[in-house]
Amino acid sequence: MRPFELDPLFRSVNTLPGVGPRNQKLLEKLVDGPKVADLLWHLPVDFIDRRAQPKIAEAEPGKVATIKIKIQKHLRPQRRGAPFRIICEDETGAIAAVFFRGKPDWIEKQLPIGEERYISGVVERFQDSKQISHPDIMPADMNIADIAVCEPVYPLTQGITNKIFRKILGGALELVPELPEWQDPSFVKQRQWPRWANAVRNVHKIEDEKSLLPEAPDRVRLAYDELLSNQLALALVRQSFKKKKGRSFPVATELREKLKAVLPFQLTGAQARSIQEIDEDMVSSYRMLRLLQGDVGSGKTIVAVMSVLNAVASGVQAAIMAPTEILARQHEQTIAPWLDALGIAHVTLTGRDKGKKREALLEQIASGEAQVVIGTHALFQDSIIFADLGLAVIDEQHRFGVHQRLKLSEKGKGVDVLVMTATPIPRSLTLTAFGDMEVSRLDEKPPGRKPIDTRLISTDHLPQLIDSLSREIEKGTQIYWVCPLVEESEVVSLAAAEERYTALQQLFGDKVGLVHGRMKAEEKDDVMWRFAANEISILIATTVIEVGVNVPNATIMVIEHAERFGLAQLHQLRGRVGRGDKESFCFLLYQGPLSETGKERLSVMRQTEDGFVIAEKDLELRGAGDLLGTQQSGLPKFKTADLEHHKDLLQIARDDAKLILEKDPELSSERGKALRVLLYLFERDQSITYLRSG
Ligand code: ADP
Ligand code: MG
Repeated sequence: MRPFELDPLFRSVNTLPGVGPRNQKLLEKLVDGPKVADLLWHLPVDFIDRRAQPKIAEAEPGKVATIKIKIQKHLRPQRRGAPFRIICEDETGAIAAVFFRGKPDWIEKQLPIGEERYISGVVERFQDSKQISHPDIMPADMNIADIAVCEPVYPLTQGITNKIFRKILGGALELVPELPEWQDPSFVKQRQWPRWANAVRNVHKIEDEKSLLPEAPDRVRLAYDELLSNQLALALVRQSFKKKKGRSFPVATELREKLKAVLPFQLTGAQARSIQEIDEDMVSSYRMLRLLQGDVGSGKTIVAVMSVLNAVASGVQAAIMAPTEILARQHEQTIAPWLDALGIAHVTLTGRDKGKKREALLEQIASGEAQVVIGTHALFQDSIIFADLGLAVIDEQHRFGVHQRLKLSEKGKGVDVLVMTATPIPRSLTLTAFGDMEVSRLDEKPPGRKPIDTRLISTDHLPQLIDSLSREIEKGTQIYWVCPLVEESEVVSLAAAEERYTALQQLFGDKVGLVHGRMKAEEKDDVMWRFAANEISILIATTVIEVGVNVPNATIMVIEHAERFGLAQLHQLRGRVGRGDKESFCFLLYQGPLSETGKERLSVMRQTEDGFVIAEKDLELRGAGDLLGTQQSGLPKFKTADLEHHKDLLQIARDDAKLILEKDPELSSERGKALRVLLYLFERDQSITYLRSG
């Protein structure tokens, strides 16, 4: 149960004054969340310093001033397009309030002749006089301390002005509760951090440039809170994982030698190193929890199979789980011949196996007759019972979460877990998604790969591109054509893909296929298989679908609106070609004109095929916030932590989390209880279920 102190922060934003049905949606989108706390984490990016209160004579052009004035005269515009000027004065001189739009009646009511007001804005020089365009207007009896302030400026969206946002935020700030201190007191003291509630209030009070920086103490405190909650949650999962004793599986030297004899290639240095790292984990009596990171095509499968052999030689079962049916089947196609050559019994189970067939498969898994089980998340299901599962390999490509990863491993005693991912994550961010899992990296491609010829092409040249593609199709080449995902609108994305489909169909007839996220899994797989069997020449796809099939004959990748994709995503898509021995191409179509960063981003794709380099660049050019753009990345989204600037804190948070659990594994001390509040605050409470006293 969520601690009651947090209730006000979890209320919907529509409970705040000034939020109605009309702006609720806008607001939720703006702050990326439905609750009051999300509003608090929406930090200012700039400020207007209204503190200067000169007399009119001293008001300096180009600076913001807050001036008490008396309204003297209304000068209505004499011709269309001219501004409405209102002449104001104090004892030192005159200044005009100028309005280029707005109803004259309304303006006159705001500034009636003979009355006093405060006006605030940037002083401008106009001919021989001074003026302020569209000043903020406040009653003269208002407390000057509330007017002449540093006004924070927030990132906004159409329909929500800074004034409206600040008013709503004011309501949210009033709800900020005092929460127990979850940070180590000496650490807080050393860093001179305020308490949480003060930090939240302070980040919205801007005094100077410095308070906007990511290094401002209040911001650092909030960022660290969030990073600690992330690391603590992962550490809890890991703790519960490691609590079960592992088993020791010796290296299957004999089976390995036999398999190497039938392999048509030699292992790369990176593969050999990774296998050795895995071997060390498997031999030890600790449970393995290792991440194998490697680009698409870097050869993860054989590494996985080599570790599977350790399990099999020890007489226990191994499971290999893929995120989709089609990928499970492809694993089977690759792996089956190897296992067959060694006389190892294997089955493949997916959600699509039903009835008698399924029962037979379950029986083989339960009896232990199946030594290796390949499948989809169907393997999680309760009905699946392994005779003795010793190793779980999860080829996840980020579709499985931390909690799911562990579910498969719960199907045996002390199961070793190897997670494989093809999404290159910058080193600095691996921690956020995987905690301190051990990591092996395949940073070396198998030899003989031809580089992919990557070109940037403006959409203006689409006809020429299609022309040359048609010649390729005649030669038997196959093409992937990716239509962009329009953010938040699958419908629009789909329409774009369908439109492209129809257009290309007119040229190439039934050689064109279409897959998209709205299709049923069976329909999707059908199109994919037809593409794999070369019945289709051009496969049009929205990115929501899995383009993870291995089709070596597909050597051309076309990506429309490449400028809308994250680099890592482009990299993954491009990895679908260049799998055979033929020369491959990747055409990045963009809609000009591109911004400087836009150009730089896309040219990174031309400069390198190294996923790790690309991921680092992506982080640098876009910031972690929109790295990969989608949840597909598997990276948690942070509210206040900015991973580009707070990288060092991440490391500290990791060590902190480790230490916390060493001293207080059940989070039952005073600080432990406060840390539970922190986990709830950032909605990482699922990890609390790993504690005995939930
Ligand atoms: P990943 O799963 O990392 O994307 P795969 O394991 O599917 O990559 O390997 C991609 C291709 O490279 C496969 O055809 C595989 O047989 C081949 N391959 C793997 N390792 C080597 C190697 N050391 N030398 C040559 N080819 C290799
Ligand atoms: Mg693979």
